[in-house]
Amino acid sequence: MRTRRFVLPTLFIVALSATGCKSTSQSPTSAKPADIDSARLINADREPANWMTHGRSYDEQRFSPLTQITYKNVSQLGLAWFYDLDTHRGQESTPLVIDGVMYFTTAWSKVFALNAATGALLWSYDPKVSPEWAVNACCDVVNRGVAAWNGKLFLGTLDGRLVALEAVTGKPAWETLTIDRNSRYTITGAPRVVKGKVIIGNGGAEMGVRGYVSAYDAETSKMVWRFYTVPGDPSKPFESPILEKAAKTWTGEWWKYGGGGTVWDSIVYDPELDLLYIGVGNGGPWNQRFRSPQGGDNLFVSSIVALKPDTGEYVWHYQETPGEMWDFTATQTIIIANLNIDGRARKVLLHAPKNGFFYVIDRATGALISAKPYTYINWASGVDMKTGRPIETPIARYPDADPAPVVPGPLGAHSWQPMSYSPLTGLVYIPVNDVGFKYKSPEHFAEKHLAPNYGIDLVAAGMPQDPKIKQAILNTVKGKLVAWDPVQQKQAWAVERLGPWNGGTLPTGGGLVFEGTAGGNFEAYRDDNGEKLWSFAAQTGVMAGPVTYTANGEQYVAVVVGWGGVFPLVAGEVSFKSGRVRNVSRVLAFKIAGKATLPALPEVEEPRLNPPPSTASTATIRQGEQLFQRYCSTCHGDVAVSGGITPDLRYSSTLNNDQWFYIVLGRMLKSNGMVSFAKELSRPDAAAIREYVIFRANQTFEQQRATNK
Ligand code: CA
Repeated sequence: MRTRRFVLPTLFIVALSATGCKSTSQSPTSAKPADIDSARLINADREPANWMTHGRSYDEQRFSPLTQITYKNVSQLGLAWFYDLDTHRGQESTPLVIDGVMYFTTAWSKVFALNAATGALLWSYDPKVSPEWAVNACCDVVNRGVAAWNGKLFLGTLDGRLVALEAVTGKPAWETLTIDRNSRYTITGAPRVVKGKVIIGNGGAEMGVRGYVSAYDAETSKMVWRFYTVPGDPSKPFESPILEKAAKTWTGEWWKYGGGGTVWDSIVYDPELDLLYIGVGNGGPWNQRFRSPQGGDNLFVSSIVALKPDTGEYVWHYQETPGEMWDFTATQTIIIANLNIDGRARKVLLHAPKNGFFYVIDRATGALISAKPYTYINWASGVDMKTGRPIETPIARYPDADPAPVVPGPLGAHSWQPMSYSPLTGLVYIPVNDVGFKYKSPEHFAEKHLAPNYGIDLVAAGMPQDPKIKQAILNTVKGKLVAWDPVQQKQAWAVERLGPWNGGTLPTGGGLVFEGTAGGNFEAYRDDNGEKLWSFAAQTGVMAGPVTYTANGEQYVAVVVGWGGVFPLVAGEVSFKSGRVRNVSRVLAFKIAGKATLPALPEVEEPRLNPPPSTASTATIRQGEQLFQRYCSTCHGDVAVSGGITPDLRYSSTLNNDQWFYIVLGRMLKSNGMVSFAKELSRPDAAAIREYVIFRANQTFEQQRATNK
């Protein structure tokens, strides 16, 4: 059995000069950083001091057996250290902690190594992603973490590279491009390493791409295999026999649209069955009428697929949302567990994807064991246990010209924020979103190169400005922390939140569950009843998955904080439901009797609206609204209400001067990630968008005046 090793950073140099050191060595002086192999990952529970892979252990339960911090002493938990980050977009990373060193990523795919006991910087690495690649990201320039193997760390960059870094220095060992740069792929997920192969997928299902997952040799960077999740052009040879079968579930000319099915987050290895489970994303474009006009299940979108990790060969699949058309990805946290169900020991996967059903799946065969909604949904009334298919309601496929809101919407009842499972309580801790969406089909599909291709009428989906209607919609938007019993398929307890987009969860052996909130706190609850025990004002929204580890014999709980991601970028007014939080990007680490304090936030002056008068014709404003929703809302917010991560254009100083055109059609702010839209928009188009923003600024000004009266 391995003992815990506490490696001081200064010893790394010694470690480098030591030759022939084995990963099994227990002497700190001969250990090299990130010295991870299969044995260590498979036996992660023997090393609770460490957090060696994305979900802590290969089962990705994110449960830590550490017991120094408990429900009895958590009230004494205090800040041990913090580390300020240099990026101010969403922070979604789960750190790794290996032998006293913390490795994590930030927005723009940067990597940092810190002393896990003190927060002191050891090194950092910037892959220098071109800011202009940001336009290809549906959901902010985020990154969810690195993988470690044999002295190296592996990073997927937003612009599609897989980079191997020497863990001791942060210097690149190799780099390989995993995408075709002519297509709008992005990588935001954490790689996983299985038997010396680095597994990585990508995102882009809104951008006209075809999904796949690839395996690369960790030492040589050579690609070992690639599995496409949707079939390509059937006039060309299929890459694998299973794709020929899958093609029969598609209609029309789907390959021209890419088809989607991107593997952008959950990739889980099962050493017991030697299977790799991948969560497959939504169809692209969302609207199936355009993607596959005569319907069909469209395999393997919105499915869990099991592959052989050595070859990428297909083994089984379970499709959660056949003929997906709501952005219902199946990429959310996949957890491996062994449960006793109806008196039988079952090897299962636990899954709470965007579509709102909690699935328990036999992981040897892919057979459905049970499925129940884990929150309010209205797109389906249940899952037919004979067929494993959802029973859709009449509104689900948005057939109407004036559609009713479908719940959940594209945010998902659960998104990327990691859920977790405690074998002590037998409960799954899910950060739940309750947000619907008004899906409406436009008459035609218009392909866009610098905007997402949803195939959805975004004007119809926009927030209405009638105060009563707006308030009624805002009242339906909520969030909660749900403790779910996967055997009984029912809620054990829940903590209501003001709004959605709260953080990933961490249960521990101390009887605690940690979660950050969209309102700016980091909190601890009793794992068995949801009693709130501790809260820390984090000065910013907390979304990422927390971790716990020990350093110098003391237990720490750490989390990367910083508000952002798709919700505040695109959701407009809805994104303020938990309050207006700032983005203050940091790592926070806590321990019992920690005494550090955060510096007070500098005051910011509330910006004041000062728009020029709105004089444009209704037709021009309408045209500007169409274009704004199509091209601008993905980053600047629904109906020109920014969630605070990117500039709110209603307050722009360029509403009455030509700088507007230099920014929209030139490349004046390219270093901020604002590309030129000159190829997609004419000058009159850009002028119409500005007239719409001026109209919205005046509308907001009048509403504020009415409220203040
Ligand atoms: Ca998506």
